[in-house]
Amino acid sequence: MDELIFRKVKTAADIRNLPRWVGRVDPQTVKLKRVIWPYHLPHEMPCSLTNCGTPHKDGVLIELEDGRISNIGHICGADANKFGDDFVRAKTAMSEEKVRAMILLALEDRQTLNSIRSRAAEVRKQRWTLGKSSAEVRSRVSDGLRGVEPSPGRSGRPHYL
Ligand SMILES: [Zn+2]
Repeated sequence: MDELIFRKVKTAADIRNLPRWVGRVDPQTVKLKRVIWPYHLPHEMPCSLTNCGTPHKDGVLIELEDGRISNIGHICGADANKFGDDFVRAKTAMSEEKVRAMILLALEDRQTLNSIRSRAAEVRKQRWTLGKSSAEVRSRVSDGLRGVEPSPGRSGRPHYL
């Protein structure tokens, strides 16, 4: 599954359309595998934990050990009668992943910036070389034309050397 779909979640419909999404999670019968990504919704959506159900705008997408995907509140998941410490650990791992993703993004930006810089330097260099060679061509042409008299070619038409 393309992990990016989790990061693009903007609405409750986006969440419900996620592959293997379920709207009911009983923390007594299934274990948490990981916290995937946080989300912020424009409207409230009920927490999927069967012993919660509180409507919320801020929550996290989670993956359960059986591979199902769901959404729960970003705070309630840590309650002792819910996922408890497993949730705290999984959420910390997710935050670290988020930081890593931001660092990668910043590095990519830096690479883009560097490639733009070196391309610009190359263009400047080419322009300089071009300016130099066109000046050379101009001076050669004017030198060449000076003193060159039209001479009759085989066709009888004058040609220039
Ligand atoms: Zn909840």
